[in-house]
Amino acid sequence: MPDNTSLIDRVNHIYKRISYAAMRADRSPDEVKLIAVSKHIPMEAIVQAIDVGLRHFGESYIQEAVKKIEAASDNQSATRLSWHLIGHLQRNKVKLAVGLFDVIHCLDSLALAREIDLHAERLGKVQGVLIQVKLADEHTKSGIDLALLPALVEDIATLKHVRLEGLMTIPPYLDNPQEVRPYFRQLYQLREAVYGMGYKDLELSMGMSSDYEVAIEEGATLVRIGTAIFGQR
Ligand SMILES: *Cc1c(COP(=O)(O)O)cnc(C)c1O
Repeated sequence: MPDNTSLIDRVNHIYKRISYAAMRADRSPDEVKLIAVSKHIPMEAIVQAIDVGLRHFGESYIQEAVKKIEAASDNQSATRLSWHLIGHLQRNKVKLAVGLFDVIHCLDSLALAREIDLHAERLGKVQGVLIQVKLADEHTKSGIDLALLPALVEDIATLKHVRLEGLMTIPPYLDNPQEVRPYFRQLYQLREAVYGMGYKDLELSMGMSSDYEVAIEEGATLVRIGTAIFGQR
């Protein structure tokens, strides 16, 4: 869609495509939550997005998110929003992150899980997390190696203030979204393996502006969409 359409048109267009993708996979569109990725997007546009009904927002940078989350709760105190941390989390930012975010999508080590557990306990909360899995051999991307996933899942189960809510991945960017499909399918299969360890009802956070329909066909329950909602950052 061209950038001169209004935000509400773009969001409606995305909802329609989410529905069609879900139906192609014999899924209910209700199984898919739209996370509006608002990193580098000014507060006015976020307020517009709240006004058209979006409730889940994804941010990548803690410092930026602090201001926005505070501003949003001042402006929109009657509206319950969910904030998702989708960018890499450094150990020294965990305290802030636990205070701010409903779900942390980028858990990729036991050390980080323990740090989250510690701060969540101090704040009297149970922190929802998704394990970010590295499926492609891309050195720049964070995420845990496949082979280490079962051990991390077991270790997280021992932490009282961390709740595993699902898996997340950022596949390589490929021009043809169909080529990303195997990565999404692999994350789905990993979730089956985690179900085999006794978990149920786990989210699959996968799919961005360029490939969310393929991700939904492969089982995504959380799609993280920035550009298609807000335009180019
Ligand atoms: C920026 C970002 C997105 C959104 O990307 P778009 O292509 O703008 O939809 C999704 N997930 C993560 C982890 C991101 O960093």
